[in-house]
Amino acid sequence: MTAAERLSDVRARIEAAAGRAGRDPAMVTLVAVSKTFPAEAVTPLIDAGQMVFGENRVQEAARKWPLLLARHTDLRLHLIGPLQTNKTKDALALFHAIHSLDRDRLAVAIAREIAAGARTPELFVQVNTGEEPQKAGVSPREAAGFVRRCREVHGLAIDGLMCIPPVDDLPGPHFALLGKIGREAGTSGLSMGMSADFETAIAFGATHVRVGSALFGGRASPAPRARSGGDQERGPGSEGGEEAE
Ligand SMILES: *Cc1c(COP(=O)(O)O)cnc(C)c1O
Repeated sequence: MTAAERLSDVRARIEAAAGRAGRDPAMVTLVAVSKTFPAEAVTPLIDAGQMVFGENRVQEAARKWPLLLARHTDLRLHLIGPLQTNKTKDALALFHAIHSLDRDRLAVAIAREIAAGARTPELFVQVNTGEEPQKAGVSPREAAGFVRRCREVHGLAIDGLMCIPPVDDLPGPHFALLGKIGREAGTSGLSMGMSADFETAIAFGATHVRVGSALFGGRASPAPRARSGGDQERGPGSEGGEEAE
């Protein structure tokens, strides 16, 4: 299959899943996750009309995207991996949405850059629905309070919540939990669902599905399992692990 064929296949599956759930497929944004793939792999999808892409590392995106963004002004880039506070400025120069807001220090840094003239990104608070120690995200218990602090203390508009269910769990209960927290917190967006489970996520109300391998094919080993939003994909010479705070 060509990239364009895979794209129309994924789009058809999104439409069918939305139809089964009685939802409008236009309410589901496909974020094409192009991490590890070069710009040449991305252009056929852009030519086929895909305008929303996801990357999990700021540095990789900074190498891959500036030229494409300059050429196609409709493109929207989403950061789906962890963001180190000291890369906030670089991230906001590239990305239109951040899916990994999970701590006050990062909220402060984002608010400061916006005040200094950076673009206001769409913001998703990442929730560690499986409470996995190695995974980023606020705990389900703290999520609504964190959203409130982002709004009231940090002055940030929060567009939604994001989660990455544990690889060994059924995803449905995690998607349901994220939806419940979203109702409590008064957020409308739900960034959930990847290649293996985006149809399930749509049944549970996903507004953004993050699909990589179903569009681009398998990624080179060491096989990223998307388990921790990219944490485990960092090799030597990459951006490093969790920032020390
Ligand atoms: C890599 C990644 C994805 C895409 O995963 P696929 O299984 O390739 O669709 C989605 N979300 C996050 C946070 C990721 O790191």
